Amino acid sequence: MKVDYTDVLVVGGGLAGLRIALAAKRRGHDTVILSLVPPKRSHSAAAQGGMQASLGNVIKGSGDNEDVHFQDTVRGSDWGADQEVVRMFVDTAPKAVRELAAWGVPWTRISKGEREVVINGKKVIISEREQADGLLNQRNFGGTSKWRTCYASAGTGHAMRSATRRSPRVFRCTSASKRSRSFMTLVAAAEPLCAISSAAPFRPASLRRP
Ligand SMILES: Cc1cc2nc3c(=O)[nH]c(=O)nc-3n(C[C@H](O)[C@H](O)[C@H](O)COP(=O)(O)OP(=O)(O)OC[C@H]3O[C@@H](n4cnc5c(N)ncnc54)[C@H](O)[C@@H]3O)c2cc1C
Repeated sequence: MKVDYTDVLVVGGGLAGLRIALAAKRRGHDTVILSLVPPKRSHSAAAQGGMQASLGNVIKGSGDNEDVHFQDTVRGSDWGADQEVVRMFVDTAPKAVRELAAWGVPWTRISKGEREVVINGKKVIISEREQADGLLNQRNFGGTSKWRTCYASAGTGHAMRSATRRSPRVFRCTSASKRSRSFMTLVAAAEPLCAISSAAPFRPASLRRP
């Protein structure tokens, strides 16, 4: 059996896992991602709608800020969300989208002037401010009170995945073929030192390699 040593083991190669691995590498830890499927086949790559951040760039996002985003998110969860987590998320999101831009995510940008949009099933003309020209665009998504969804055309998840994976802070990424899944399960079930993203529930496995 091959034994591999690392400071940090991240289970799952979706965006959550990639982002954790980047943070660990940034702090100088040797990092390995162990994933059932490779990052490019993880569900994260399929996300199309976009990512919420209260930048208030577009005219329909005027007056937006972290507190409005917080209220929308807590209300949207029917008051079921962990409000400390929501607070952390809404405060970090504007920084995170800008960081992703620096890493190469081709966020769709605002063009000043008039454009046609659909609001409540009706075509409406809105006009973007001159000073907003070239800033990150934001669309209406998810029933929020302000337009705050940053997006990269219809490939946001794919673009975020590519930028994160291309980052100069290289980490090792090991994915499993179907045949070696029980081996993966064993390592993942060993629990202690690792960060786990959206990994599927583990099934019991024997000590034998397939
Ligand atoms: C079609 C689609 C569209 C979406 N659109 C949006 C959107 O517009 N905006 C938005 O915010 N969200 C959207 N989402 C939701 C969003 O994509 C997910 O919430 C997010 O990507 C989850 O990221 P993750 O890294 O936690 O999980 P995933 O990307 O699902 O990654 C899970 C990782 O865990 C690995 N794994 C699983 N089990 C194991 C195991 N036992 N051992 C080892 N590794 C394991 C997998 O290989 C995978 O790499 C969308 C989702 C889908 C499917």
